[in-house]
Amino acid sequence: MENLNWLIKNSQKDIPRPKVVFCARGNYGGYYLHPFENEVMPGEGRYYDGEKGLIIIFENNKQTDGEIASTLAHEFRHHLQWLNNIKQKVYYDWPLENNGKSHKQNILDYFLKNPIEMDALLFENRMAPSDYSLEWEDWVRQKISKGMR
Ligand SMILES: [Zn+2]
Repeated sequence: MENLNWLIKNSQKDIPRPKVVFCARGNYGGYYLHPFENEVMPGEGRYYDGEKGLIIIFENNKQTDGEIASTLAHEFRHHLQWLNNIKQKVYYDWPLENNGKSHKQNILDYFLKNPIEMDALLFENRMAPSDYSLEWEDWVRQKISKGMR
């Protein structure tokens, strides 16, 4: 799964391949760090070379391979965004905090308020959809179509 070849199209063959790091955590999700010169320590006391970018995947024992693939695709899209100058400081995809809103509302806010995240979700669902990611896109589409009425 660390191999990104399945995600990379012919036209993208020359791009730097980010390193994929798996981090055991209670939650699942991930984040992307764009290429930079320093070493980073995403967890577990190990340092990694950040030169080509890093995709950090949080895993727990409940995740399926399909869900991991889906997260990988999402974070890889952030890499492509970065290379195409669609930049934000850090592309975190932390598990959502308990902030009094419903899970669904948090998901809707996350994607509707940030086009960069929406783009990553749509890419993820093209490349490696999971039940979760498909449901999230569904919620967003329902919300948008309600708003248009
Ligand atoms: Zn994201």
